[in-house]
Amino acid sequence: MSLRIFINGTLYDKENAKISVYDHGLLYGDGVFEGIRAYGGKVFRLHEHLIRLWNSAKAICLSIPMSLAEMEKAIYDTLAANDLKDAYVRLVVTRGAGSLGLDPNRTSDPQVIIITDKIVMYPEEYYQNGLSIVTASTIRNHPAALSPRIKSLNYLNNIMAKIEGLQAGCVEALMLNHKGEIAECTGDNIFLVRGGDVLTPPIDAGILEGVTREAVIELARTDNLIVREIALTRHDVYIADECFLTGTAAEVIPVVKVDNRPIGDGKPGAITRELIRKFRELTRA
Ligand code: PMP
Repeated sequence: MSLRIFINGTLYDKENAKISVYDHGLLYGDGVFEGIRAYGGKVFRLHEHLIRLWNSAKAICLSIPMSLAEMEKAIYDTLAANDLKDAYVRLVVTRGAGSLGLDPNRTSDPQVIIITDKIVMYPEEYYQNGLSIVTASTIRNHPAALSPRIKSLNYLNNIMAKIEGLQAGCVEALMLNHKGEIAECTGDNIFLVRGGDVLTPPIDAGILEGVTREAVIELARTDNLIVREIALTRHDVYIADECFLTGTAAEVIPVVKVDNRPIGDGKPGAITRELIRKFRELTRA
């Protein structure tokens, strides 16, 4: 049976799930998206993801043609139509088909797309041994150009950084902000551990407000760890005891080398391993 895709209220077979080549989502990257996960039939932090989607849409003056409750129902209906319990959920809202000019007023019908599919996970070996990453020369979007808090269909700056990472043989790359501070990775937030404290760049470092980031901050605080959201530089990364990334797909994943320098003793640290365990417990409960 073919995978069923939701577009504006109708479920289509994957082969027939299509939108117009005049859609400004395609022509200009004019739209927003979300990446979410379902564990055992329950969508993880769905409300938080929907709020982020609605906020992203609001920030680009795009009105999502359904309510939060309708979207929630549509997600569960699409998962059920595909008989999926552990899944990746991709929400896309485009500006809709329009003229060949930029003017969003000359578009109609924003397209609401829900793709639910099997989740492609990083190999377990990455969690056991940790990742090696490099700093990309491509910086994160300057907040005055396009806020990194908007999860828009314009991911080119992250893709450029991802290419730099891949060219260096790494699956992730570290991105700095316009001030040269640590921002985040191409599709994950970053954390450091120093002297037993957990450190991560603040939202105003120009990052996406990761849902996993927030969940991990809560887990660490429940564990009586001190979590500080502070401006960090590459120097802080190089002298950190531990480093890990968080994201919907990756969950919590250790980093053991940055720019070819070992972090701490070059092995996933104790606090990182404990947070991986706690996060798995939280999502698989
Ligand atoms: N930063 C960026 C740039 C991302 O694209 C993502 C993944 N959506 C994240 C961080 C992690 O966010 P989340 O935990 O909500 O998946």
